[in-house]
Amino acid sequence: MIVVMKPGATKEQVQHVIDLVRDYGLKEHPIYGTDRTVIACIGDKRTVDKGAIENAPMVEKIVPILSPYKMASLEVKKERTQVCIGPNRFPVGGTRVGVIAGPCAVENRDQILEIADKAQQCGCIGLRGGAYKPRTSPYSFQGLGIEGLKILAEAREQTGLAIVTEVIGLEQIESVAEYSDVLQIGARNMQHYPLLEAVGKTGKPVLLKRGMSATLEEFLLAAEYIINAGNPDVILCERGIRTYESYVRNTLPLAIIPALRERTHLPIVIDPSHGTGHAYMVPSMCLAAIAAGADGLILECHPDPEHAASDGAQSITPQILNELMRKIKRVAEAVDREM
Ligand code: PEP
Ligand code: MN
Repeated sequence: MIVVMKPGATKEQVQHVIDLVRDYGLKEHPIYGTDRTVIACIGDKRTVDKGAIENAPMVEKIVPILSPYKMASLEVKKERTQVCIGPNRFPVGGTRVGVIAGPCAVENRDQILEIADKAQQCGCIGLRGGAYKPRTSPYSFQGLGIEGLKILAEAREQTGLAIVTEVIGLEQIESVAEYSDVLQIGARNMQHYPLLEAVGKTGKPVLLKRGMSATLEEFLLAAEYIINAGNPDVILCERGIRTYESYVRNTLPLAIIPALRERTHLPIVIDPSHGTGHAYMVPSMCLAAIAAGADGLILECHPDPEHAASDGAQSITPQILNELMRKIKRVAEAVDREM
């Protein structure tokens, strides 16, 4: 349920309601808006005396939260969340559209520094690259680990780009958080609940990828785990789902953009690389995603896709990225966004 305070409620009055809510065994999540404060109360409401809370000073009303996800829902928070990332604190989820680019995996220092330079020059806000790779086969390249994280951190020093990199296990959270700006939770881990809770306890923004067979509701409930653990900085990422189609690696359902915008205040980023599996499809899907209201894109880009250690077929070259950025800017402006 949400306790809506009257405009002008004092800090003490808000605290009084919080204390009452805690007395009933619920967890409070106050949201301080521009003209009023609302307190989302999460937990088992059966023992709550709603009348007692309703009668507290400066309480306007109590409204139930109908959706199964609470903190992620538009019912609780009407203003769109902006998640500020990287040394330049770029706000993902505001009026500006941001592009994060980089290889699937960190392969070596030269590769990363070259891509980082090119990405920065053409206006990207972030650099992606996995130091820990969740590979389908145990015999495939598994990533450079901590050495890869150090290379990413060096690229950030050099360019100011926000580093987005995946954390695949609980034991890596501390080191990935130390060297990067955004913790990526991969599609295969979207329902790894202890991992979601653990990244929810770090102060780092999280890029949560939709599981390849997860429904929209399961996706938002996964985001809810992170927010409920104390971290409101969640960026949702659609990366395509598994269907019967074989002309694509995954089917990229862009209709999820308006569907999410109708239900959640969290920023939405699209990954057309995993979402299609083919480099030639990536530019069109980027433009379509921005036209449909996405807040950003995360793309795989490699200086030599033919020799990439992973996901070369879906990686665009820096040259294509450069041409694409100009088109993205034009589409963004056509839908009243900026780059
Ligand atoms: C990746 O970003 O390289 C990756 C493994 O993505 P996903 O979890 O979407 O498959
Ligand atoms: Mn990849």
